[in-house]
Amino acid sequence: MIRINENYLKLQAAYLFSDIAKRVGRFQETHPDRKIIRLGIGDVTRALPQACIDAFHQAVDEMGVDSSFRGYGPEQGYLFLREKIAAVDFQARNADIAPEEIFISDGAKCDTGNIQEIFAADTRIAIPDPVYPVYMDTNVMAGRTGFFQNGRYENVIYLESTRANDFIPDFPKVPVDLIYLCFPNNPTGAVITKAALEKWVDYARENKAVILYDAAYEAFIQDDELPRSIYEIKGAKEVAIEFRSYSKTAGFTGTRCAYTVVPQACMAFDEKGNRHALHKLWNRRHTTKFNGVSYPVQRAAEAVYSRAGQAQVKVLVDYYMGNAALIRKEMTDLGYDCVGGINSPYIWIDTRTDSWQFFDRLLNEAAVVCTPGAGFGACGQGYIRISAFNSEENVREAMDRIKTALS
Ligand SMILES: *Cc1c(COP(=O)(O)O)cnc(C)c1O
Repeated sequence: MIRINENYLKLQAAYLFSDIAKRVGRFQETHPDRKIIRLGIGDVTRALPQACIDAFHQAVDEMGVDSSFRGYGPEQGYLFLREKIAAVDFQARNADIAPEEIFISDGAKCDTGNIQEIFAADTRIAIPDPVYPVYMDTNVMAGRTGFFQNGRYENVIYLESTRANDFIPDFPKVPVDLIYLCFPNNPTGAVITKAALEKWVDYARENKAVILYDAAYEAFIQDDELPRSIYEIKGAKEVAIEFRSYSKTAGFTGTRCAYTVVPQACMAFDEKGNRHALHKLWNRRHTTKFNGVSYPVQRAAEAVYSRAGQAQVKVLVDYYMGNAALIRKEMTDLGYDCVGGINSPYIWIDTRTDSWQFFDRLLNEAAVVCTPGAGFGACGQGYIRISAFNSEENVREAMDRIKTALS
């Protein structure tokens, strides 16, 4: 008798976005003429930078001619892209990362989800609350958690991010092996300082743990004192894996390109306590289960590092950050305590009431869609997330409507 992986039965149905869709659908049915503005979803809305489009087109043309056609590429990605990443994203910021330590992929979602495969089944995991759900669900699927009881999974150490700790989690009170951190954070928009990140790196080194550092939003950091990469911290290469993506940076959510850094020096242990390079394990995993990102997409990603590409990406980021500043200002003026929106495209707003109740209020009275914080974890209750990913016109109109509705 063929049996299922019963860990899948422990998963909570992905209620959040279907619940939102249901409520929005019901509202639209009863208000057919009302234009709904969506500031809920974490997806970009503006076109790819022209430099990326030009490189993309040219690469497609190369694929149409025998002499420049390319079949399977290296699973880890073409060196032309990995060399640019190493130079611009890391070495230019004094983070000593080599091209060979970079693995190109089709998404940070896949990578943050797949990485747990190279760790032991009984790895003790520490996961932020509130959280990007991928980290949790992939560990549930792998059987690393118990059942979902009273709003939380058993056998998971929750790293609470609340007003009390300025949305930077405290160290776990029990031993952990694998620590998920995400800065600038989704959903809270909080950022971490070098000093605070140093403490986490020290913690990992002292406890023989590994940090999985999701830096998908690093391009939104405006304050140059803040670390964009965990490898700006001394000693991090031995204890950290970093995830990056072109999705939010350069509008690649529908184009698909990201990368993961696994430094050669990053180690974990076998049962006998012998050290093993995680780079070797991830390389084995990646080359076995993945066949590379398409050539034109890697050329489009490479163009992000051209002079024109860098300037165009900055224009994109500045555009969204203008929206973020407006959202933060208006909500603050209305008397709400806000986190994020300064070095991140998300604004995390304390509604001082139930997340869903506030969501309904914005929908019914302003026809604006946000994301209820409770959907990201127990610590998200009472908050909503507003995203800066929309047109400036829509964000202006949404904020005008919210002001009218709430004041
Ligand atoms: C959007 C996002 C990503 C990027 O995912 P892709 O698969 O590269 O599109 C990664 N981590 C977080 C927290 C995100 O919000």
